[in-house]
Amino acid sequence: MSGEQNQYDLICIGGGSGGIATARRAAAHGARCAVVESARLGGTCVNVGCVPKKVMWQAAHAAEVMERAGDYGFSGVSPRLDWSALVAARDAYIERLNGIYDRNLGNSGVDTIRGHARFVDPHTVEVNGERYRAERFVIATGGVPGRPGIPGGDLGIDSDGFFEMADRPEKVAVVGAGYIAVELAGVLHQLGSDVQLVVRRERPLRDFDEAIQNAYVDAIGQHGPTLVNHFTPVGLEAAWGGYALHAEDGRSLEGLDQVIWAVGRLPNTDGLGLEAAGVRLSEQGTIPVDDWQASNQPHIFALGDVTDNPYPLTPVAIAAGRRLADRLWGGQSDRRLEYRDVPTVVFTHPPIGTVGLTEADARARYGDAVRVYQTGFVPMDFALSPAEAKQRSTMKLVCVGEEERVVGIHLFGVGSDEMLQGFAVALRMGATKQDLDDTVAIHPTSAEELVTMT
Ligand code: FAD
Ligand code: NDP
Repeated sequence: MSGEQNQYDLICIGGGSGGIATARRAAAHGARCAVVESARLGGTCVNVGCVPKKVMWQAAHAAEVMERAGDYGFSGVSPRLDWSALVAARDAYIERLNGIYDRNLGNSGVDTIRGHARFVDPHTVEVNGERYRAERFVIATGGVPGRPGIPGGDLGIDSDGFFEMADRPEKVAVVGAGYIAVELAGVLHQLGSDVQLVVRRERPLRDFDEAIQNAYVDAIGQHGPTLVNHFTPVGLEAAWGGYALHAEDGRSLEGLDQVIWAVGRLPNTDGLGLEAAGVRLSEQGTIPVDDWQASNQPHIFALGDVTDNPYPLTPVAIAAGRRLADRLWGGQSDRRLEYRDVPTVVFTHPPIGTVGLTEADARARYGDAVRVYQTGFVPMDFALSPAEAKQRSTMKLVCVGEEERVVGIHLFGVGSDEMLQGFAVALRMGATKQDLDDTVAIHPTSAEELVTMT
C-alpha cells in the first residue's frame, strides 16, 4: 500500500464509455476519482466500435451518394476507393480522440492509471504491482467479441479484426444476425466487396419489429448484400482459392477472402479477481446489478456491457454512470437509469431507427388496445433515380389505448438515424397519435410522414 495518493473515493475499472463518464461526473461532484484502463482510452466505442464504424458507414454513404450523382446530371463521377487512405485517416481521427479523452480526464481532476486492474480484496485493486484502495468501485470493463466454437473458427476475424483489415476483401462472408453483422455487411457491400450475410435462421434482426425486418430483407434482396439464410456454420477451412465455410446441412460457401464473425459479444471480466472482491457473476458471465447499478457487494457497482443491461449501447453506459455519480455524490437520491424506451439506430444502408415496443411486444402486453399505423414510400432522395435504384422507406407507429399513446416508433429509410432522437423525446413525454397529427409537417422531408400517417 503506497500511501494517501493511492486512496480514492471512487475507482472506475475500465476507461470506456461508462467508466469515464462516471468518474468525470463523480469528480465534478467533488469525489476523488481514478480510472484504470488497460488498453486505449475511450474503450470499445471509440477504438473498435461506434466511432470507427460510423466513419466507415460515412465512407459507404458517400459511395452511395456518388452512385446517384448521374441521376442529377453529373458525369465523370467514377470513384475509386483507396482503402488504406481511408483507414489511415480514420485511425488518425481516433488517435486524436484518445488524446482528447486523456486531457478531459486530467482537466476533470480524474487520475488515469494505466494497466490491468485486479481486485485483491473488496476495497483494493492491484495494477502493475501497485495497490489502490477506494471506498467505492465501478466496474465498467465492457465486452469482447464472441466466436462460434467450431473447427477453424480462429481462421475468421471478428469486429476488432474488421478495423485492422489492411485491404478490402473482394469476397467476404459476414456471419451473424445482429447489429454488427448487418452494419459491417452493409459497409463492405457499399464499398465494393461481394458480401454474403450469413444467418442461421430465416432472417436477421429478429428482435426488431417485423416491419423493419421485412423492409431490411426486401431492401437487401434488391440492392445487396446477399442474404444466405438457414446456414448454421459448423466449420471453416483454408482451402486452395480461399476459405470455405461449411454449414450443418452440407452446404458450403467457397472462395472467400475473409470470414467475419459477428455472433454476439461476451462480458469482459477476465483476470478481474472478482472472487477476491466477493462479486458474483450470472451464468452468462455478466455482473448482475440491481436497479441502482449495485452488485451483490453494496460498494461495488457495475454498468454498461459487462452487466446484464438489455441495451449494450454507449449512451446507456454513460447515462447509467452519470446517474449513479449524481446519486452517490450529487445528493440526488432517486437518480437512476430506467432501462426502457431507449432509442437506437442500426447503421445499415439505409439506416434503421427504433424506440419503444415492437408491435408484437405491445400486443403481448396490451392485447386489442393496440393500434398500428404504417406507411411505405420512396423518399425524395431517389426522385430522379431509375426504378431499380429506388430505395423504399418504411415507418410504423405502435399506439395504445383510447388516447392512442405512442409506445413504439420503427423507421427504416434515409435519414432515420437523425430523425429518431426528437421523436424519442416525444414518446418519452407520452405523446399521442393526435399530438403527432397536430404538429405541422416539414415539407418535403421523410420525417413529415410521421406526423401525417392515417
Ligand atoms: P467499453 O467501452 O467496452 O470499455 C471497457 C474498457 O475497460 C475497455 O477500454 C477495456 O480495455 C477496459 N478494461 C477491461 N478490463 C479491464 C481491467 N481489468 N482493467 C483495466 N481496464 C479494463 N453503441 C452505440 O451506442 N452506437 C453504436 O453505433 C455502436 N456501434 C458499435 C459497433 C461495434 C463494432 C461494437 C463492437 C460496439 C458498438 N456499440 C455501439 C456498443 C458500444 O461500443 C458499447 O455499448 C460501449 O462501448 C460499452 O461501454 P462500456 O463502458 O460498458 O465498455
Ligand atoms: P447481437 O447479440 O445483437 O447479435 C448476434 C446475433 O448473431 C445473435 O442474436 C444470433 O442471432 C446470431 N448468432 C449467434 N450465434 C451464432 C452462430 N453461432 N452462428 C450464426 N449466428 C449466430 O450481437 P452483436 O455482436 O451484433 O452486437 C452486440 C451489441 O452491440 C448489440 O446488441 C448492440 O447493442 C451493440 N451495437 C450497437 C450498434 C449501434 O448502436 N448501431 C452497432 C453495433 C453493436 P439469431 O439467434 O437470430 O441467429
